[in-house]
Amino acid sequence: MSESRAAHDAASPGVLTRFADRLPLTGATPRISLGEGSTPLVPAPSLEQITGAARVWLKLEFCNPTGSFKDRGMVVAVAKAIEAGYEAVLCASTGNTSASAAAYAARQGLRVYVLVPGGAVAQGKLAQAVAHGARILAVEGSFDDALQLARAVTERRSIALVNSVNPFRIAGQQTAAWEIVDALGDAPQIHCMPVGNAGNITAYWRGYRDSYDRGDAKQLPQMFGFQAAGAAPLVTGRPVQHPQTFATAIRIGNPASWQGAVAARDESGGDIVAVTDAQIRAAYEHLARAEGVFAEPAAAASVAGLLALHDHGMELAGRQVVCVISGAGLKDPEAALQIQPDRRDVPATLEGIEAALD
Ligand SMILES: *Cc1c(COP(=O)(O)O)cnc(C)c1O
Repeated sequence: MSESRAAHDAASPGVLTRFADRLPLTGATPRISLGEGSTPLVPAPSLEQITGAARVWLKLEFCNPTGSFKDRGMVVAVAKAIEAGYEAVLCASTGNTSASAAAYAARQGLRVYVLVPGGAVAQGKLAQAVAHGARILAVEGSFDDALQLARAVTERRSIALVNSVNPFRIAGQQTAAWEIVDALGDAPQIHCMPVGNAGNITAYWRGYRDSYDRGDAKQLPQMFGFQAAGAAPLVTGRPVQHPQTFATAIRIGNPASWQGAVAARDESGGDIVAVTDAQIRAAYEHLARAEGVFAEPAAAASVAGLLALHDHGMELAGRQVVCVISGAGLKDPEAALQIQPDRRDVPATLEGIEAALD
């Protein structure tokens, strides 16, 4: 390895290098990386003021290379697929899993197939899959249909399934919890996140427990997961046939990691709560306007949920809260452009510009 290459790897080592001793790697696992992980944990002063929490931290997972947390698990799943000799990977996706799979596969020279529910994927995510050269199979059905087909076809063919039913995805996604414990010196008391297929809440809970078992964390958080009201099977206790929400990343009616989500909720003394699209949209706009954080709608469900807990009278004074901001606002420009813009047409003159200022 040349010196400049080594310096580059040290600058942005990625999770396989940073957490090599805690992930299920062998000497034969290639240490691939797009510089994922090590995302910022920033305070949200306006949310502290509203809720009275001692600190509200935003874990900015959209700072991962493809703009969502999916990269943490995908890098492990793709590395293990290469180790096992696969030359192709496949996933079903509401968008971000396909963007991530497409990027890592492109970098490693693997073929990549993505099964997306027709018409239900945000434009930015589709753009990524197109740009990275994925073969896109637009399935005439829901995400849940696509995942079932993805499982079936990868059983018949020598293609690695890289959905979160692949245990290496969950293993890699634990790294976000480890980073939070690293940054805070302990786990927070309250952890808030969106829940769709429920792989990520399963991973965070496993990650926090692992930090606790190692003595890195002295406490475990209460885990609060938030589903969109039109796609809330874990709240109602039964699968939803036709899930509906503008937060397409969590538009899932039958989560693959159902048991993991229920365990995280029950073992941590937390809850899984529904938030309406109106609550998600309000949180989405608040994050952008008051915190300067442009998240995609599903990511704003963390904050919608925290505000709902506060509205329901939960005592947050003195508490450390972490909200996972799971994906980037630019993924879904259509959601942003539904906001009435503050826009005027002005003549190309100094007077025209000055007249339009406050
Ligand atoms: C995938 C995703 C989720 C949901 O995560 P699950 O592991 O499916 O519960 C939430 N937000 C964003 C932005 C996502 O991409």
